Parts: sequence; C-alpha cells; structure tokens
Amino acid sequence: MAQNTVQFEDHDQQSIQYTTCYMCACRCGIKVTLENQNIRFIEGNRHHPTNQGVLCAKGSAGIMKQNSPAKLRQPLMRKPGTERGSGAFVPISWEAALDQLTNRLAHIRATDPDKLAFFTGRDQMQALTGLWAQQFGTLNWSAHGGFCSVNMAAGGNYMLPFSFWEFGNPDWDRTKYFMLWGVAEDHASNPIKIALEKLKRHGAKFVAINPARTGYQAIADEWVPIRPGTDGLLALSMIHVLLRQELFDWDFLTRYTNAPFLVIQAPGARDDGLIWRNDTGQPMIWDMRTEDFTDGMKGGTLPALLGEFTTPDGRKVKSVMSLMVEKYLAEEFSPEVASEKTGVPATTIERLALEMAQVAFQETIEVACEWTDWTGRRHDKFIGRPVSMYAMRGVSAHSNGFQSARAIHLLQVLLGTIDCPGGFCAKPPYPKPVPPPNAPAQHSAPNTSLKSSSLGFPTAPEDLVVDAEGKPKRIDKAFSWEAPLAIQGLLHMVITNATNYDPYRIDTLMLFMTNMAWNSSMNTKTIRNRLRAKDELGDYKIPFIVVSDAFHSEMVNFADLVLPDTTYLERHDTLSMLDRPISEIDAVCDSIRHPILPPNRDVRAWQEVLVDLAKRLKFPAFTHENGTPRYRDYADFIVRYERDPGIGFLAGWRGKDGTKPLRGEPNPRQWDAYVAHQSFFQYHLPENIRYYRFANQEYLEFAVEVGYLSKAEPMMMELYSEPLQRFRLAGMGLYDGPRPEDPADRERLTRYFDPLPFWYEPLEQQRVSEEDYPFFAINQRPMMMYHSWDSQNAWLRQIIAQNVLYMNRRRGQHLGIEDKSWVWVESHNGKIRVQVQLIEGCQEDTVWTWNAIGKQPGAWGLLPEAPEATHAFLMNHLISELLPEMEGERLFANADPMTGQAAWYDLRVKIYPAAPGETGVWPIFPTIQPLPEAPEPTDILRHHTHEPVNLKS
Ligand code: SF4
Repeated sequence: MAQNTVQFEDHDQQSIQYTTCYMCACRCGIKVTLENQNIRFIEGNRHHPTNQGVLCAKGSAGIMKQNSPAKLRQPLMRKPGTERGSGAFVPISWEAALDQLTNRLAHIRATDPDKLAFFTGRDQMQALTGLWAQQFGTLNWSAHGGFCSVNMAAGGNYMLPFSFWEFGNPDWDRTKYFMLWGVAEDHASNPIKIALEKLKRHGAKFVAINPARTGYQAIADEWVPIRPGTDGLLALSMIHVLLRQELFDWDFLTRYTNAPFLVIQAPGARDDGLIWRNDTGQPMIWDMRTEDFTDGMKGGTLPALLGEFTTPDGRKVKSVMSLMVEKYLAEEFSPEVASEKTGVPATTIERLALEMAQVAFQETIEVACEWTDWTGRRHDKFIGRPVSMYAMRGVSAHSNGFQSARAIHLLQVLLGTIDCPGGFCAKPPYPKPVPPPNAPAQHSAPNTSLKSSSLGFPTAPEDLVVDAEGKPKRIDKAFSWEAPLAIQGLLHMVITNATNYDPYRIDTLMLFMTNMAWNSSMNTKTIRNRLRAKDELGDYKIPFIVVSDAFHSEMVNFADLVLPDTTYLERHDTLSMLDRPISEIDAVCDSIRHPILPPNRDVRAWQEVLVDLAKRLKFPAFTHENGTPRYRDYADFIVRYERDPGIGFLAGWRGKDGTKPLRGEPNPRQWDAYVAHQSFFQYHLPENIRYYRFANQEYLEFAVEVGYLSKAEPMMMELYSEPLQRFRLAGMGLYDGPRPEDPADRERLTRYFDPLPFWYEPLEQQRVSEEDYPFFAINQRPMMMYHSWDSQNAWLRQIIAQNVLYMNRRRGQHLGIEDKSWVWVESHNGKIRVQVQLIEGCQEDTVWTWNAIGKQPGAWGLLPEAPEATHAFLMNHLISELLPEMEGERLFANADPMTGQAAWYDLRVKIYPAAPGETGVWPIFPTIQPLPEAPEPTDILRHHTHEPVNLKS
C-alpha cells in the first residue's frame, strides 16, 4: 500500500563536513550538516578518539554561536576624542588597522621588545603564539594557564614525567578504583562522561572529593565533602596511613623513582638537602648487593630504599624514602589531626587509603606482553595496579595547589599506579624528563628574536628571569623570586603590574580572547579602573590595548583597536603535537579545524593575522633573508614549518606523498589528507610501548625517533625535588648562586619550597580571620557552559541565565538564612548582594556559585535587560589579585608562591541577611553602547535553515 511520506530533511541540499569542536577544551570531533551555507545541525563524530560520537549541550549549540548577534563584524578603533571604556568605536579597514599596528610593533621591537605584552586566553594554539612572541623578542608572553590550572601542570611536571590536565589520563578500561579530586563538571566533559559510564559498567568504585556534589560527583559511589584548600593534607594523611601500614610498592619506588637516592644531611651547610652525587653528577644509592655506595642510574643494582649512611668523606646522608617516612609519620598528618582541617572524618581517611591499597596490591592485573626496561631487563608482562586518579582546578586554584598536586601524585606513586595498566597513564608526547629540560628565555634585545621560548622549567635560581639586582624582567613577574616556577606566566597580574609600572611601563597590551575586563580577572571593578587609568600627564598608563575576539565581550569595550576573529567553523586551526594535542593514552592523535563556512562579515582568523604581522615585521622564521615571506598564509605555514627536520605542527600524513606518519618532510596535500580523514590523525602505539614508558627502552627509542625526546634515557620520578631545594637554599642564604635580597622573598622560599610535598594554609587565609570570614567561597563552570562565551548562546542560556549562591541547608538554617532570601556576601576586598539557595550537596563551611553567568548590560549581543545582566552575579568582585597587605612588606600576588597560579579559590567570606527591602543583585554595571552596525540584540531561541515542516493534524 502506498504511503505518504513527509520530508523533514532535504538531503539533496545538504552536505557533511567533519571538524573539531571549540566550545570547550575537550576538542571533540564533530560532524556538521550544512544546508544553504548554514549549519543545519551538529553531531558527534563516532569515529573520533576523543568523544566517540558523544556530543554535549555545548557542542550541539555551536550552531547558535554561528548565528549570534554578538559576533564582531569589522575592525574597530576607539572613536577619536572618546575615553577608553566608553564603548564608542568607529570602523577601520583591515589594511589601516594592520598598518597602524605594524608601525607601532616595529617601533617597540626596534627599541625595547618587552614593551609589548602579549597574552592569550583560549590557548589552543600556544605553539603559534609562543613562536610569534619568541620571534618578536618579547619576554612578555603567556596564555591563561597561570589563571586556570598551572598548579596541575607544574605539580606533575616537577615530580612525574607527565601530569594531570591534558597530559595524562586514567586507563579507563582497566581501572577498578577511581578517585576524582576537585573536578568541576565542565572539565574534560565528554571524555570523562564516557569514562564514568565505563567505570559504572565495569563495577569500579568512583570516589569524588569535592566541596560541592554537582556534576560528576552526583553519580559517585562515594562523595567526600572536603573544605576547599585542604586536598593536599587529605592526600598526605592517606600517605601517613599507607606508610604506617607499610603498604607501598617497594619495587616501583626503587626502580623508577628517586626514593633510594641519598640526600645530604648537613643543616646550615651549602649542600644541605641536595642529592649526593658522584664525580660525573650521578645520584648515589646504597647497593644492598655489593653493600657499597654506587651510581643510582646504573642498572643491575639492588638499591636500599631506607637507610642512613656516612659517606667516605664523612657526610651524613639519608635516602629520600627515609626522609619521607620521618616526615609523613608525624602526628600532623595522622587522620585524626587531618580530619580537623579537612572536615573529612578520620575513619574515612583511613578507609579510603586502605581501600586503594587493597585494590592496588590485592587486585593486581597483568597484561601479557614482552617488553624491555632501560636496564636491558626483559619482562613478559606489564603489571597493573588498577587505581587511578584525576585532579583539576579545585586543587589547582589555591595558593597551596602546587604542593597539593605533588601530594596527590606522591600518593599515586606509593601505590605504583603510574603509567601502568589500570593506573594513571601518559598521553603522547608525554612522558618527558622531570622537569622538561627547557629553561625560560632570559634576555631580550632590540630587533632580536629570543633564543628560546619565554616559558620553560627553571631548575635553579640561575634560571630566573631577573636583572642583575634580582628585579623581575617580565611584566607579570613570572620566573622572579615571587613566582620562580611560573611555567605558564601570571595573566592575572599583567594589568595591575602594568598600571603600577611595576617593574616597568609597557607600551602595548595585546590580548586574544581573554575577558580581562570581566570574569577572567580577579577584582573585576578595580581592574576595569586600571584599564582606563591615566598618568599625571593625562596619558593612559597602558598606552595602547589591542583586543582580538570573535564576540563582543566586556573586554572589547576597553580596546583601542579591535581585531575581529572568525568563529571556529570559519578558519584553519590545529590541535598540534607541538602544543596541546588530543592524544589518548595508547595513541598519538592530533586534529584540525578547516573553514566549512565562509565568514559573512569583515573578519580574519587571529592565526592569519599573526602570520601576516610576522611577515610585515620580517620575523626570521617567517621571512627569507631577502625579506620575502616564507609562507603564503597560516595554512601554508602549518604545512611547511618544521621545528626540527621532519617535525611540524601536524603529525599525520607527512612525507612528500603523505605516506609517513609522525615524522617526515612536509606534505603539500596534508590539509586535504586531514579533511579526507574526518579532520583527525591517530597512530596507535604498539602494545609493547604502551606502559612504563618512562623506563621502557623501546618506547624511549621510539620517542627519540619521532622527536618527543632528545635522548633515550629513563625518566626518574622526583618524589624529592632537588630544584625546589636549590631555591630553598637560596632563601636560606646558603645557595652558591643568585639569592634574593628581600626578606619576604627569603621567608617564602625557605617556607614553601619544601622538596617533599607538604600542606600549608592558603596564603589569603593566613591573613584574614576565620572568625570574621567563616565561609569558603568557590565558583565553578557548569557542564553546559564554558567561560562567558557560552552564556550568550541562545540555546545554552535557556538552561542557566542567572545564578544563585548555593549554601548547605543545615548551616543556612542554623544561621537563620532562609531559602531564596537575599544576602550580602562580603570578603576583605568587597561585597555583593545575591540570592541564596539552600541545598544538601554542599560542604557545611563552603558556599559556591556558577562562574561567568553574570554579564555587563549590553555586552555579548544580549538585551540590556537580559537576566544575565540584571539577575546574575560574579564572585570575581570579592576576590583580590593581591594578598591583603602586611605592614612593612611589599604587595604580593594572590597566587601560589611557587608557580604564581591565581588563588581564586582561596576566598573567605561572611554572609548576612540583606535588610528588608534590599533585593536584587548588586553591583550592576552601566550599559555598554552597541557597536557600529551591530544587529539589534534579540532573544532568538531557535535556528532553522529552511521553513519547519509541520504535520497537519
Ligand atoms: S565536550 Fe562538548 S563542548 Fe567540549 S569539545 Fe566536546 S562537544 Fe565540544
């Protein structure tokens, strides 16, 4: 019987393109259906290694970014005669804008390159921006890692051959016990969702440590509510339990870590706390086989894990493990004492430690496979200890986050769970030496490129970026005595330091996609005032601000020159092996974006602009000796640029004919190959090089071959960090080399640069009274939004368009605070008025809210009366970028004293009911003017590429 069919989709008019999502940092593969030069819909790419077809709310809502009225449409300059921040702009042509910028930058480069500060937010192309800054010759470059989660990266890199963040993952298929520390539900969104489903299916236990029971924590088998900033203490207390019960992986510690290395014990001497080394600089151990001292990096030994010895020249030495046992068996780390600070019951701390030990040591798994370790020893299997962990911003964004991340890693190492089946494993190009062997560039000079990247890994005071007097050479003071290990810079200090001329005055601040005038700053109101601050002559203290963004953010309003970016669907881009690739633990993976839609406005991809500026400024890497450009455009640069012979931005389809994976000559058709392969490349590692890669000889040789390592040498885990001890000796005045002058620096180095992980109260909390400010206050991003770029999204803002302050119900009721009532929240830095919601899933001493929902009226293409502008708030107003002042001491960043990580989770507040009649959020900011030729803000809630087909009733 003939049937009438209704055609909802006209497939003849549709085409499909594969690319990579940009709606969060996960970088999933997406399949985009196009119709009439518009997106019809977006699906997950089921073949993609990252998301395997899964798509989140943000990913599918990418369609509404493309249709957003907030898109910038043309280059703009501040209207002559108007004040910065007033929002008055006039259009300028690209040629005029780039000529103006080139002239300015050429003058800076020819006189003092550090007068350019170039900082980026969404850092998915640091390999390009870093190369650009290096070629320009400014020390002042970084991305937003220092504001986000650098403690995670540094905490790992200074102990393990890899770290949390994008450089390691649990072996989800094999792990039996998973502990998640401080991870908000936006992070690693689809991959973690897929993984948690796997764990549930396998019957693994999932423990979530977090002050708030939202997102992932809601489906945890056990939620451990913890006081913010105490995770490190919890980890060290579990270590106390393991050591007390002698539950640790003896073989793993002796073979792969510096636990048996001998440390000099000579208080007051210049070598105190350094590792005892032989004449060739190799660390010494006690060999139980020969009953003598020997080179710890020599194979065939039987190292003593514990011991105290006297060297032939009469020095006292102790093994690292002995130092750890002494330290962590102290009463301060007992579960009973730790419980008072963390809020986690002592019995829970003890039980969690013992549960993990049981799984690690009683439920060992084996993967049959022959492999060879670095000593030449053959193995017929990989031993797996199936306990894994993952940690992120909740641990990181505290001023004790570096040592806390190290404490968590130490716990993993004691259980022997690093890069083994079921454990926490590296993602290529990791593992790398501990720490990676590149120090930051230290010197800049006119018209000269830096010798190396301006970011790196200091291992001694000689690596600091300071002048002869010890003063910072970078505007953010990264790699100074104030933040010696600031491996990703201090984005949050740039504007404050620049307006204080501390350490010097800059000329131009160039920002890419970072909302420093709003939710990407601590102390938002003050930072906005700083952006328009003038000197005594009436000139701006930051003379020129360039902003590149795709959307009309609050920061755009403060620009002198606005360079409009494309969307992620309109440009070429790479998720590169030279940067932050999309690798999996068992595969080398990278991916691309390519233009699947033509821009319908006068915009250019920021990458294209950088390559164009590099040509105009005649950077050596971008121009031939005769001054002609080496590369036609960004796409050409990606294909033909080689960092080393055969190593470029993309690892797939290399070689002239595209037949060489990982390493090979440039392939002129490489973009086509990626497009033909759904925009990603994947190279599965052979099974014998999938585990124990830090000591797996075949892997080490492979890594040298493909350019991940320079030498096929084992990478020992540094449980005891000699680099930290060198800085500590400098603080104590005992270092044979640079030492700080300021007593405050000396005190900080001596106190915080402990070579073994330890816990201390976060710095702000040391300076504000718990009695006055009894609550911890934190914020997190929701699963369905990522930064402020999403709260303008017509689909996503229907899920959340205003936020409330969540508070533990019992505690709220005890204080007489009613559900949905209005309260004042006050910190040492300011106050806000917000509405409270009482909930059960929140640690009793903690309040929290969603980040970046609040907007300035008129920004982001939203109606000025949109709920985001009138009913939502930012916690940022309460947080200071500086620590509360102490008499007689200079001002310090509110940051980790080692890495400079912004400590925006250290906030303490008091909360009290608003007076009768005091309702509505406060503060509210003035309305931003519309940009020239901007479309009217609308409340579009749907999108269609053809008229909807409706069934007749
Ligand atoms: S998790 Fe969602 S938003 Fe993030 S990259 Fe994947 S699909 Fe896009």
